Formats: sequence, C-alpha cells, structure tokens
Amino acid sequence: MTQRVVVVGASLAGLRAAEAVRKAGFRGQVTVVGDEPHMPYNRPPLSKTSIGDVPEAEWLKPGRHATDVEWRLGQTVTSADLAARTLRLASGEVLSWTGLVVASGLRPRRLDLPGPMLGRHVLRTLDDQAGFVSGIGSARRLVIVGAGFIGCEVAAAAAMSGIETHVVAPEAVPVERPLGAMVGAEIQRRLEALGIEFHLGTVPVEFLGADRVRGVRLADSTELAADAVLEAVGSIPNVEWLAGNGLDLSDGVLCDADCRVGGRSDVVACGDVARFPNMLFDEVPRRVEHWVTAVDTAKRAGQVLAAQLGGTAAEHVFAPVPAFWSHQGPVRLQAFGAPGLGDGEIRLLEGELSGEAAVGYYREGIVVGVVLLGLAGRYGHYRKEIETLSANRAAG
Ligand SMILES: Cc1cc2nc3c(=O)[nH]c(=O)nc-3n(C[C@H](O)[C@H](O)[C@H](O)COP(=O)(O)OP(=O)(O)OC[C@H]3O[C@@H](n4cnc5c(N)ncnc54)[C@H](O)[C@@H]3O)c2cc1C
Repeated sequence: MTQRVVVVGASLAGLRAAEAVRKAGFRGQVTVVGDEPHMPYNRPPLSKTSIGDVPEAEWLKPGRHATDVEWRLGQTVTSADLAARTLRLASGEVLSWTGLVVASGLRPRRLDLPGPMLGRHVLRTLDDQAGFVSGIGSARRLVIVGAGFIGCEVAAAAAMSGIETHVVAPEAVPVERPLGAMVGAEIQRRLEALGIEFHLGTVPVEFLGADRVRGVRLADSTELAADAVLEAVGSIPNVEWLAGNGLDLSDGVLCDADCRVGGRSDVVACGDVARFPNMLFDEVPRRVEHWVTAVDTAKRAGQVLAAQLGGTAAEHVFAPVPAFWSHQGPVRLQAFGAPGLGDGEIRLLEGELSGEAAVGYYREGIVVGVVLLGLAGRYGHYRKEIETLSANRAAG
C-alpha cells in the first residue's frame, strides 16, 4: 500500500512540515488539508500594514522538495480516528493516512459581551484583515481591546494613519506578560507619542449601539466612542477535531520533545498548536505562538515523521532557540530566548531604554531571554549568547 502523510493546516507550519517530510526522503503521497481557501501566506504583515493601504498577501511558496504536494484547500477536517488512521472532512469524505501532522494553529478568542456584533473585528487570517480594512473604511475612531503584540501593532498602524485610537486592557502596561513592566512602560510611552490613548487596568463590559457598534463601556464606567472595534484578546488552539482519541488537548496538543503526539510515532504536531518541552529551558511543555518556532517545530516534526515511516531515527537533540519580532510603528523590537520565562530579574544590558537598548531577562541568575529595542547591529551578538546557552543546556 502507498504510504500517505496527511498534514492538517495549510499555513506556515503545515507547509514547512510537508517540505521537511519530503526533504527527509519520504516518497509516498503528501496531502495538506486546510480550511482557508488560500495557499499559505505570512500572517505577520496583517497587523503591520498601514490602515489606508490596500494590503497585499505575502504568499509562502512551496520549496522545491514540495512541488508535488496535494493541496486540499477550503476543506475542514471535522474528526480524526487515530486507531483507524483516518480523518473525516466536512464533506463526509474519509482520508486514510500512515502519518499525520497536526498543524491546525489557533483562532482568535472572542469577547462574550452584550451589544451589537457588527463593527467588531478580529485579526488572524487574510479574510479577517479584508473585513477589518473594509469595516474600518472611513472610521475615525478605533477601540482596540487587548494590549498584546497584535493590539499594539494595529494601534500603531491606525494612529499613524490618522485614526483616533484607544487601547483597553486589564494589565498595568502593554505587552506586560511577555516583556515585563519595564519594557512595557517604555513601549507605552512611545505609542502614546503617536497619539494612542491607553485605558489600562480595566476591561470592556458592553458594546454600545443599536445595529452596529458605536462605542464601548468599560468596567470603570468610561464610555469610548468607536466606529470600529478590534478584539485582540488572545487565541484558542484548533484541537476539537482531535477529540475522542485520548490525547491531552487541554492547551493545544501535548507532544514530547520531538513533536510526537500521544506517545505515537506516526502522529506529530508543530506550530502554534503544539505544546512541547524545550530542553533549552526545562521539561515543562509549552506552546509558542511565534513564526520562527512554527518553522523550527515543523521542520523537526516532518523529519521525525519521515524517519519513523522510513524505519530510521531522526538525529540530534531538538532544543530550538525561540526568536520573535514585533514592529509597532517606529518601535522595532527583536527578542531571542524566552523573556516571559524570567523570574522578574530584568537588567539593562546595553544602551538607554528611552533610545536603543538591550534588556536581559533572568531566571535563577541565568539569562533566558534578550529583548532589543532597535540596536539592529547587535542581533547577531545577542542571538549567539542565547544559542550558546542552548548548546550548553542541550549538552547536559
Ligand atoms: C496578525 C498576526 C501577526 C503576527 N506577527 C508576528 C510577528 O511579528 N512575529 C512573530 O514571530 N510571529 C507573529 N505572528 C505569529 C505567526 O504568524 C504564527 O506563529 C504562525 O502563523 C503559526 O503558524 P501555524 O501554521 O502554526 O498556525 P496558523 O497560521 O494558525 O495556521 C493553521 C491553519 O490551520 C487551519 N485549520 C485549523 N483547523 C483546521 C481543520 N480542522 N481543518 C483544516 N484546517 C484547519 C487554520 O485555518 C489555519 O489556516 C503573528 C500572527 C498574527 C495572527
């Protein structure tokens, strides 16, 4: 029987996993199933495009190893039977597989509040962005709920496009959870200089308006007028289709350090949906919602699966160095390691916080992450520091 790898999720991780399976020598059929109607594209530009510009999709082209991959787009996988090695699609069609890659990513969390739905947006897909851009149309007042990376990036783009922009969030400063209070306060200062107004330490309790949103009422009774609202309040892993197989789906899909799922060697997971231990830090499995880790886990998952199907073993310890970036108007931020794992000890390593700076995040006295504000010329240096940490940890 011909072997077949099926990848669920036709985005960054799904594409890179399909390429990796082929590159590792798998000669059977490779099928990628995705519920979006599009070929894979890059999501980072979606939150960074100036509001007035007509956005153009940044397509991800399959590499030379994956030109014969079968793409089943606009098709949703509704369930999986791991014992029978089958998947069921919304159309009722059943697909058999010998290897399965879980790359189904995340969807935006929605606010469950009273009030009209029209005028409320989220931003994860190309179609979300098209809806947001047309919804914002001639809007002059935008309220963004959520002060994480996506909320701050869109806020900067909107304010620089001349839109009155308000950001509402329960934290004391923006991006507090991933970057801490010191860097968050500096980012707030820079975004306020663009004209963005922050409403922090509070939450929305109601959307105002009859048939469409005209405003937002906050818990402290403030009422903000709005022509459009963006809900940027985190994400939910797309795992429902895997239910009933005895897997731990409590936060994404639990994997081992090599991306294998449920102790099986024929099922792997990668990208934002995968919760795996990174031995660079410790044995605690965590999900990582960043582009670089999606690529790293996809390559590893594809390699491990192809090796298994070919009866060999994938080599070397997998301990990828996390890295991410965020562009919020003039704020250019680059990070290596996992600043969010620090225990609160944060040191200015170089430069001035109010200008260009390198900030170190420590756990038990050991640096676990570095954030650069500007300092583009120092990327290589700090990346190397975190890579050295990785090499030392992985070696034992
Ligand atoms: C607006 C935005 C800006 C970002 N900016 C940055 C940035 O600046 N820097 C950075 O490091 N990272 C950034 N990221 C994160 C980065 O884009 C993600 O880490 C990356 O997209 C993860 O890829 P993925 O393939 O794992 O998941 P996804 O991109 O979520 O893809 C999963 C795919 O699977 C599909 N799917 C789900 N369930 C099913 C099903 N049952 N059947 C079929 N298909 C299914 C989904 O529709 C989706 O197409 C950003 C993300 C967003 C949304």
